[in-house]
Amino acid sequence: MDKTVAVKWMQCFDQRVEAEKDHLSELDGPIGDGDHGANLARGMAAAIEAISSTEQSAAEVFKPVSMALISKVGGASGPLYGSAFMGMMKAEQAGQDLAGVLEAGLEMIKKRGHAQVGEKTMVDVWHPVVEAVKQGQLTNDLIDQAVLSTKEVVATKGRASYVGERSIGHIDPGSYSSGLLFKALLES
Ligand code: ADP
Ligand code: MG
Repeated sequence: MDKTVAVKWMQCFDQRVEAEKDHLSELDGPIGDGDHGANLARGMAAAIEAISSTEQSAAEVFKPVSMALISKVGGASGPLYGSAFMGMMKAEQAGQDLAGVLEAGLEMIKKRGHAQVGEKTMVDVWHPVVEAVKQGQLTNDLIDQAVLSTKEVVATKGRASYVGERSIGHIDPGSYSSGLLFKALLES
């Protein structure tokens, strides 16, 4: 990935998170603790600040983003997003293509969160997105469908698993924010 695309991607994601931070926290209310939007907005603001303009590559852009997300977001999603960007940085350094880079991010999330598809986590968006990018078929519609697909699922991982069956009928907040990440990618 071109360095300028990586920077634009992060800026677009930051803008989308900032614009939807209340909505993200509202999604986190009934099945979590209502902090996802505030957490991620704080983390992405720090990430944008940490990108200095001296970076020479996408990998060098992903590194400060990863560190900012790990140290500033908190909650479950901070370390998960932070690990994803660490995996993407390494894949970029190894010269992988976009699908390979995103897949490396997904693998880090699965490893760190011990989550599989179908457990009402961000993995439910990352997985179909990676598959779509492999086939060159990522669209906003596909992202929306993946996010919406988490609604009727029972959460078995993370804080939402505490409410069990009562998580049905609510979109997973981390899936929604991952949807913003991939829409920002399409935009950039
Ligand atoms: P917390 O749940 O600690 O308050 P956030 O509200 O910031 O953290 O993030 C919650 C999101 O993190 C969930 O919506 C889900 O998508 C994601 N998540 C939580 N646990 C896991 C996990 N084990 N694996 C993958 N994603 C997870
Ligand atoms: Mg929360």
